[in-house]
Amino acid sequence: MLGSLLLPEDVVIVPVSRLAPGMRDRMEHEDGDHCVTRPRSRTTTTVVDARTAALLERFRTPSTIVDAVVAFCSAEGSDLRASWCNGAAGHVPLWVLAHALLGDDRFEHLARGAAWTAYEDRAGAPGDLCCGYAGRAYALLCLHRHLGEPVWLARARALTDRAAASIEGYAFRRESLYKGEIGVALLAAEVNDPAHARMPLFEGEGRPSAVP
Ligand SMILES: [Zn+2]
Repeated sequence: MLGSLLLPEDVVIVPVSRLAPGMRDRMEHEDGDHCVTRPRSRTTTTVVDARTAALLERFRTPSTIVDAVVAFCSAEGSDLRASWCNGAAGHVPLWVLAHALLGDDRFEHLARGAAWTAYEDRAGAPGDLCCGYAGRAYALLCLHRHLGEPVWLARARALTDRAAASIEGYAFRRESLYKGEIGVALLAAEVNDPAHARMPLFEGEGRPSAVP
């Protein structure tokens, strides 16, 4: 899973603007788009935006997907966000599951790194499960359950406090599980029973027959 990927040598990535006018006009594109093609194969030519082209170029040298995405985000100044839906909190259960199933220590390292990002971002956030502190707290509870380190429970409690304070001021949707107060209320109850705390409708409930 963490093996290196390498773009085949004959893959050509070129700005659409550099193509011959006849060819360019046949392609639906916007300014800055690139064309990805393999002239010596029957692969369909694809049009991608400039950022996707830049990410693809990282696979000219052998790179894992994780390394390529991390290097790309760092070069773009767009480090991973903290939220469950669009960021690090959602990566924690993924790496925890990979570590539990495959036992490779690199997955534990990734889980810890994602959990740190979910915990550390202090720029302020909504309180809810999807985009806010509550989903991030559940991510830390997931890591706590996996590693058994009390400090991750303490950090989850800190995020639970922030979730409660934040949701009081604003909720995307009133009385919503993922976008409102109900998710935060559930977290406030479950943080006191961390062995059974689960991101609702997402994490398995820990029954013997279920995925951990
Ligand atoms: Zn969200």
